[in-house]
Amino acid sequence: MYDNNNIFAKIVRKEIPCDKIHEDDRVLFFKDINPKAKIHVLGIPKANVINFDDFIDKCSPEDVVHFFKSVSKVIDNLDIRESGYRIISNTGENGNQEVPHFHIHILGGQKI
Ligand code: 5GP
Repeated sequence: MYDNNNIFAKIVRKEIPCDKIHEDDRVLFFKDINPKAKIHVLGIPKANVINFDDFIDKCSPEDVVHFFKSVSKVIDNLDIRESGYRIISNTGENGNQEVPHFHIHILGGQKI
């Protein structure tokens, strides 16, 4: 079950601040508080979904496409398309997922 009090739910509700990169009514992108690379941005849908599987199961195809097109737009905004980047989504216990709200890590700005 989705935990309404997870840290990213609080960020979506503006209860705690974030260093925002891009936002619209369905998605939010912000800098990771503990960056693992020169550029480390997190991207989340605003829907209450726990992980990748939950996102694909519960969100509409339009919302899924919108999310991934937004990831691509942010990659352009960060100017890392040419230099390269890594996108990751950790899921569940073996994936070492820490925050139970689906998110994509975008890492770049250096050799990962
Ligand atoms: P996960 O391990 O769940 O894939 O990644 C969670 C990420 O969220 C970690 O990289 C961690 O640094 C980041 N994070 C945790 N709490 C906060 C926070 O309050 N603000 C921001 N911006 N990032 C956070």
